[in-house]
Amino acid sequence: MGLEEKLPNGILLTSVEKLVNWTRKSSLWPATFGLACCAIEMMTTGGPRYDLARFGMEVFRASPRQADLMIVAGRVTNKMAPVLRQIYDQMPEPRWVLAMGVCASTGGMFNNYAVVQGVDHVVPVDMYLPGCPPRPEMLIDAILKIHAKIMDEPLGAARAAALLESGYATDLMPSSERFAKKK
Ligand code: SF4
Repeated sequence: MGLEEKLPNGILLTSVEKLVNWTRKSSLWPATFGLACCAIEMMTTGGPRYDLARFGMEVFRASPRQADLMIVAGRVTNKMAPVLRQIYDQMPEPRWVLAMGVCASTGGMFNNYAVVQGVDHVVPVDMYLPGCPPRPEMLIDAILKIHAKIMDEPLGAARAAALLESGYATDLMPSSERFAKKK
């Protein structure tokens, strides 16, 4: 799903690519959900002091179907992993994922059977943000880096091919199937 599907074949100009990417990065809407302590910093970032509205993204969407940025704010437990994947599956393409904090990125200090050792085991991650917890300034910096990444992305089939080449595997298997109990 995306603007590029509306364009006739063969007239995809660089300037169109730049315009589409600019509109995408200027209205990146995060999905509303937080998993642990990092979520407090994420909420602070949306407040008046840090003012995410500057980047056109103060609207944390209550429905994943209206969101294109997943900020994984906090550790992901094995019990939460299928839910997180389901939210990701419900987000329309193109979508981006930011792993916020050491817990989301690697499991952090929670090296145990209950915690997923990095959310990239569950969804493909575009940006890793270190820190425990990362401060709002760090989150804004990571978001700006995602903006820069979006500006450099090709569109449509070229984007899919580029992602595949970079090892970014988007497994579109529904979570109900992926995490179904084995009989
Ligand atoms: S990185 Fe630190 S602040 Fe963030 S969820 Fe883990 S323990 Fe909490």
